[in-house]
Amino acid sequence: MAATAGRLQGLVSVITGAASGIGRSTAKKFVENGAKVIVADRQVELGEAVVKELGSAASFVKCDVTKEDDIAAAVDAAVKQHGKLDIMYNNAGIVGERGPIDQAKVEDFDFTLNVNLRSVFLGMKHAARVMKERKTGCILSTASVAAIAGGIGPHGYAASKAAIVGLTRNAAAELQAHSIRVNCILPGGVVTPLIHSLNPDVKLTDEQLGQGMVGTMGFGGRYITPDDIGNLAVFLASPDSFFITGQGITVDGGFIDLYKDSLDLWFGSKQ
Ligand code: NAD
Repeated sequence: MAATAGRLQGLVSVITGAASGIGRSTAKKFVENGAKVIVADRQVELGEAVVKELGSAASFVKCDVTKEDDIAAAVDAAVKQHGKLDIMYNNAGIVGERGPIDQAKVEDFDFTLNVNLRSVFLGMKHAARVMKERKTGCILSTASVAAIAGGIGPHGYAASKAAIVGLTRNAAAELQAHSIRVNCILPGGVVTPLIHSLNPDVKLTDEQLGQGMVGTMGFGGRYITPDDIGNLAVFLASPDSFFITGQGITVDGGFIDLYKDSLDLWFGSKQ
């Protein structure tokens, strides 16, 4: 894919979890808008396939976001390859183990927090390390509407995503002095492999799964796609959002505000 002049022209980014779903779509949009992208993911084959599709503006770094050294290496790869890091997008995440809280294993809870939250902290830490020197930068993370409404995911998932919103505010307060903006995105249900994995026994196409969601998290007769999240990521990463920092922005067609009193998605009928 040829890079064209765009809103991210000349900017350098790292996107974790970019081998699939929201991260993959965002990587494509970043390149379309003129950015260089380090695709950082634990899935090597898929990550390399994304890079092949995106062309010379993208490169792959194997990265397990539970390992600080891997995150540091992804950031350093951006600096080594392109001389700087402008955009760090902490996006990798998992749903984690499900089940009633009284039967939950603390190791499963810890693991979800490791993948979804500790990784965001580490991404912020290492991005700040290289961005502070240049007194500019943008840090994004993917939270979820599960951060602000109950009954949307497992407890570890909800806890990790809610904490990302708080961490975003805190990091933004500190890094504002260095002209580094920090924001997060709270998607509603987006059709990706992660959503398919919620019901692994039910084999649906993306279209079938999406159509099933139109009545709840859809809007205007259609469902949320990874591109809807990528579009916001491009805006938040671009100079167009220069005065936006410390924010968590929902992309859910108004679902949480309009329907939150009737949420019954995760736990089934009231017990
Ligand atoms: P996805 O499964 O398509 O993509 C997630 C990516 O993260 C995968 O490429 C996976 O390999 C990577 N990943 C997972 N664990 C990792 C690890 N330890 N190290 C490195 N990479 C790892 O799912 P998605 O829906 O695109 O999810 C992206 C983000 O969006 C996640 O943080 C998820 O919680 C969040 N989110 C998704 C939805 C949704 O409905 N799909 C809604 C709200 C928030």
